[in-house]
Amino acid sequence: MNSIATLGSHCSLQVLKGAKEEGFNTVLVTKSSREKFYRRYDFIDEYIIVEDFQEIMNDDIKDKLLETDSILIPHGTLISEVGIEKIEKLDVPIFGNRHILRWEADRNLKTQLMQKSGVSIPKTFNSPEEIDCLTISKLSGARGGSGYFLAKNSEDYYSYVEKFKKQGLMTDDDELQIQEYIIGVPVYFQYFYSPLKNELELFGIDKRYETNVDGLGRIPSTDQNEIKLSPTYIVVGNLPLVLRESLLVEVYDIGENFVTASQELVPPGMPGPFCMEGVYDSNGKFIAFEFSARIVAGTNIFTTGSPYSYLTHGANMSMGRRIALEIKTGIKNQTLDKLLT
Ligand code: AMP
Repeated sequence: MNSIATLGSHCSLQVLKGAKEEGFNTVLVTKSSREKFYRRYDFIDEYIIVEDFQEIMNDDIKDKLLETDSILIPHGTLISEVGIEKIEKLDVPIFGNRHILRWEADRNLKTQLMQKSGVSIPKTFNSPEEIDCLTISKLSGARGGSGYFLAKNSEDYYSYVEKFKKQGLMTDDDELQIQEYIIGVPVYFQYFYSPLKNELELFGIDKRYETNVDGLGRIPSTDQNEIKLSPTYIVVGNLPLVLRESLLVEVYDIGENFVTASQELVPPGMPGPFCMEGVYDSNGKFIAFEFSARIVAGTNIFTTGSPYSYLTHGANMSMGRRIALEIKTGIKNQTLDKLLT
């Protein structure tokens, strides 16, 4: 029997709980500082203790994963703490398409894949001098929404760059992507694509609770002006959301088009969980500013299932469990090769 393994962070509790529910042995790679915390949960069978997640590249850790016949479930912490280059070389089976993670991390590749899928995306500006509307500038790399700033013209832009450099948030080598800021409500679509059934499932929808941007409205505008507040976008949690039912038709189209585009540009495409992230603007049009090509932490809201997973699977189907179910089916039908890279 295979084991399901992941790094202790992000969505590991949900992933391993779901794996246990589907009958798998579960393996957690955890930093020693979090071992006590994770030992509180009885659905984790084996612990591999490290000081740094980079140790996953070491032969002794790799051997432990191979001895337990582990399939590694990638998530945001694997990308941010181990890095794309190493993930591509890691000699352990990974669930999903490990090559598409590079397309998530690299802003140019990301834009290319989103354009190919046909989803509307914000206008991007090649130089600050071109800015002609409210923009959001983003440092490259997964930084959890810190190091972003809003600018409505090039003067704003350069004064923020100066400020960020002084604060040590960026260096001369850092690249910024300048994107039109879409005014509206941010929404995150969580999908699961099953290559075994050749079917897309809408798994859940959430919004993020970001500091300090979600707290700014609690401060009167006169005070905001006086203390010269600017927004940051650091995610502290997620809130569940259901959409107007009439919007769901397009949500499925967006997901299916993304799967098709990923199959063309990054074979084998997008097996497993992914997320499309965007804003409904004031005309009710969805404009996507990001995607995540793996499980997102927003699925943690739905450990017992979401209003949407309930429609497809009945009660108690989390994204973690859905991954394990797909792996179980792949083992049973001898089609596991369609799910791993
Ligand atoms: P990201 O790291 O790209 O997921 O963005 C972090 C947060 O910044 C999002 O959750 C949104 O609140 C906001 N954001 C990012 N891009 C845009 C955009 N183009 N228009 C409006 N808000 C954005």
